[in-house]
Amino acid sequence: MKYISTRGDQTQRRFCEILLEGLAPDGGLYLPVSYPKVDAATLARWRALSYADLACEILSLYIDDIPAADLKALVHKTYTPAVFGSEQIVPVRRLGDSGVLIEALSNGPTLAFKDMAMQLLGNLFEYELGRRGEQLNILGATSGDTGSAAEYAMRGKQGVRVFMLSPNGRMSPFQQAQMFSLQDANIHNLAVEGVFDDAQDIVKAVSNDLAFKRQYKIGTVNSINWARLLAQVVYYFAGYFQATQSNSEQVSFTVPSGNFGNVCAGHVARMMGLPIAKLVVATNENDVLDEFFRTGTYRVRGSAETHETSSPSMDISKASNFERFVFDLLGRDGARTAELFGPTLAKQGVFSLTAEETAAIAGYGFQSGRSTHADRLATIRSTYERFGDMVDTHTADGVKVAFERVEASVPMIVLETALPAKFAATIQEALGREPSRPAGLEGIEALPKRFTVVPPQAEVIKQYIRTHCD
Ligand SMILES: *Cc1c(COP(=O)(O)O)cnc(C)c1O
Repeated sequence: MKYISTRGDQTQRRFCEILLEGLAPDGGLYLPVSYPKVDAATLARWRALSYADLACEILSLYIDDIPAADLKALVHKTYTPAVFGSEQIVPVRRLGDSGVLIEALSNGPTLAFKDMAMQLLGNLFEYELGRRGEQLNILGATSGDTGSAAEYAMRGKQGVRVFMLSPNGRMSPFQQAQMFSLQDANIHNLAVEGVFDDAQDIVKAVSNDLAFKRQYKIGTVNSINWARLLAQVVYYFAGYFQATQSNSEQVSFTVPSGNFGNVCAGHVARMMGLPIAKLVVATNENDVLDEFFRTGTYRVRGSAETHETSSPSMDISKASNFERFVFDLLGRDGARTAELFGPTLAKQGVFSLTAEETAAIAGYGFQSGRSTHADRLATIRSTYERFGDMVDTHTADGVKVAFERVEASVPMIVLETALPAKFAATIQEALGREPSRPAGLEGIEALPKRFTVVPPQAEVIKQYIRTHCD
């Protein structure tokens, strides 16, 4: 399988070339030249596989520059019950006798779904860097969960340093404690005075300085990384197999969304032929994506218009993976995609698709909905009272929208993107009690913290990297 950019550069790259890169040189995102189609016999065979074996099958359709035995070893080292807490890795449970199910993606080390991809990425990076005899400096931006997942995946890994930018003071105390308590010398926490998008803009600015990027071997683990997206495709298949008896059935997914990485993996699974009826994008008050899927207009917000919510990992003003879907929607017209996401957004901050293009969205199964803080509280409460199930604030955004969108006879699977223990204050507000915390994480807020506060300036970040690379 080869990979091309969404902005028209037709250079074809191999998996391990783009593994250690972020954006393509023309500013676009990488996608495979085509999506491999999974036929009925293959789907039937996959139904019987363990999670790790299923992951091997799917990944090997997209990765042809790692020997099969090595890939198998990396995948089996990653997806173990010891790390993810159960044999199924992503167990699916039904909410009472409703048509809504929850797929648990959040039983990894940092209690959020980002571990699903990041744990694999850590092993892939170590493997590929070792093979090349190279070093890598990972520069990332996080609104909470990416950062801790990346740091837990890369801590202590040979040849890797992590420079992780987060919006100063905007993560939950638990998230801050998780990240800032790491004492590994290869982990650097930089708290940016600004919102998540300021941090993300810095990452883009530094990555666009090609000389700096080359000299300091800057890589990324943000959700624009294709390998992360690919790792996430696996759990759409795994969830489908658990929620159905046979491959003639369909399911729908509702996905709590911010940067459109998670649900974009669902789009890829659907393009491969997984019988997905609807992909429902659930946003919080930061409803850039809900607006797009209702109207065909994509309008990025400024920092001032970005709401700080009780589902903070979805507090975005633009969705960095969204370009991948638009590229597919526009018939893979790289020139048009480049125009929309380049000059048009830079000049106007908004673009609108034509009526025909907007009508075509339905053919990809996408729908959307949004929720508010009051909705989250009500949903956490009702899910607990009706079904005895405690969900976190992000998952609650999904559950709220899922019940609005569920259709008779099509199971609706909500992706559980974090555990309630990460967002204790809102759980307390909704239920009047503390969420339980997995063993080993008691009292982490009291641990000593390692972080540096920095202004939102790319030059300051570059200087920090220079002085910490020698
Ligand atoms: C990152 C994250 C999201 C949003 O996922 P995207 O891939 O950015 O759309 C939702 N919920 C939680 C808990 C997250 O960490």
